[in-house]
Amino acid sequence: MIKLNEYIGCIHGHSVYSDGSGTYPKIISAAIEAELDYLMMSDHMTLQGKDEGFVGWHQNLFLSIGYEINDPEDQHHYLAFGLDKTLPETYSHKEYLKAVKDKNALGIAAHPLEERDSKNSLPGFPPITWRSLDYPEIEVIEIWNMMSHWLESTTLKNRYWNVVHPRSFSTSPSKKIMQWWDKANIEKKVTGVGSVDVHAKKIKILGFFSKAIFDYKIMFKSIRTHLLIDKPILKSTSVSDTEQIIFNTIFQGKSFISNYRRGDARGFRFWAEMEDKEIQMGEMGFSRRAILRAIIPEKSICKVIRNGKVFYLQETKELNLKVHEGLYRLEIERDERGWIFTNHIRIKES
Ligand SMILES: [Zn+2]
Ligand SMILES: [Zn+2]
Repeated sequence: MIKLNEYIGCIHGHSVYSDGSGTYPKIISAAIEAELDYLMMSDHMTLQGKDEGFVGWHQNLFLSIGYEINDPEDQHHYLAFGLDKTLPETYSHKEYLKAVKDKNALGIAAHPLEERDSKNSLPGFPPITWRSLDYPEIEVIEIWNMMSHWLESTTLKNRYWNVVHPRSFSTSPSKKIMQWWDKANIEKKVTGVGSVDVHAKKIKILGFFSKAIFDYKIMFKSIRTHLLIDKPILKSTSVSDTEQIIFNTIFQGKSFISNYRRGDARGFRFWAEMEDKEIQMGEMGFSRRAILRAIIPEKSICKVIRNGKVFYLQETKELNLKVHEGLYRLEIERDERGWIFTNHIRIKES
């Protein structure tokens, strides 16, 4: 197994510069306490945190700041990282998809297929969605957005339980997204990330204030994206080069998503071996046969998904599975709840 360096972080957060409740110093200390290696913040329609100089190292935390773009109808939310200036607010989603791509920035479609239970959903939180994701510029999507999933799963019936147990409801990414994602990847590569979408705002539900549910530190201990990078990131590397390494790793899909609530997934690995080569998540290999291998930190249910369907299932700490061509990813479950979700490995015959 090739040695890779693992960096664990959270993507998608809001500060007081948009509709979050925390200042940057407060958010940074919450991320340090949660022992994140990196954090990617994304206020709505502003780069103020970046303009004020918060991007860079804060002890062992690397902070990157992009922003969350919306169209004039407040739909098609899109995270953009690596822009120096915000784009015109009048842009339609097609215009900002193109502009982000043209400027070589990283774009991530946020809560892309969000929906609501039409009869029981909480009033005042309409779905913010993409309707269609069939644009060539869409190359990275959120497959598991903690806040969006909370709103999707919280109904008039279960709201008290979900307020008191904010992380317990989120048992896996939505089936609709995963189906879209597997299908899309048969045609073209689309990378998945996990995100928190933390605001840390108190939401009033029938006179009951949800105090800590969206607190930064609690959210930083939920959905995380683990990056696997060939070379260690040195603090002597420039801030912009460090951002580029992180953005490229996300773009390439050399990552997996974990829910920290189900356990610390540090040390998990998934790769394919063929002849004299090793293929990582986000990569494609050419061979008539390969061995899928995984190391899982705790004995768990390991599901191998091939071309969108469960292909193999075993309770194990290690996977060694002979396969032929296909599009493979893993889902790891503990106590029937989703723990780890990987990006795809592609194996082609020629
Ligand atoms: Zn959003
Ligand atoms: Zn957001």
